[in-house]
Amino acid sequence: MQKLKYLVLHCTATPEGREVSSSDIRHWHTDPVSKGGRGWKQVGYTDMIHLDGKVERLVKNNEDANVDPWEITNGVAGKNSVSRHVVYVGGVGKDGKTAKDTRTPQQLKALEEYVKDFHKRFPSVRIVGHNELAAKACPSFDVKKWLKQIGINQ
Ligand SMILES: [Zn+2]
Repeated sequence: MQKLKYLVLHCTATPEGREVSSSDIRHWHTDPVSKGGRGWKQVGYTDMIHLDGKVERLVKNNEDANVDPWEITNGVAGKNSVSRHVVYVGGVGKDGKTAKDTRTPQQLKALEEYVKDFHKRFPSVRIVGHNELAAKACPSFDVKKWLKQIGINQ
C-alpha cells in the first residue's frame, strides 16, 4: 500500500455529446484482447462523470490517503499505485478524433465540486491531467489553467 500522490483527470476520448456507460468502460478495459478489450484486471478510473453531471463510482475506495491494492485503477501506466483516476465522458469532437474540451455545463460543475472536495481533504495530493504524466491529449483541456480559474492553487 502506498501514499496517494496524484489525482489524475481523464476523458473517455469519445465524441462530444455521446454518453458512455460504466459497462462500456468495463468492456473496453477488461475484456480480453482477443475480444477487442485491453485485457486489464481493473478499469482505468475510480469515478466517472456523465454528461448530465452525475458522478458514478466504478471502483470501491475507502477515501483515505493511501492507495490500497484493491483500489488501484489503470489510468496511467507506472503511476497507478500512487494515483486516483477520474474521467469525464467526452474529450473529442464530433469527428471522433480531434481532441476537444467537450465538458458540458453539468460536467464542469460536477468536476469542479469533485476536485474542490478532494483538494480540501487531500491538500498535498497533486491534481494533474493525464497529459502531464504521459504524452497524450487526454483530458483535452489545460488542467493547470482550469485549476487556477476555479481557485485551486497547488
Ligand atoms: Zn487519460
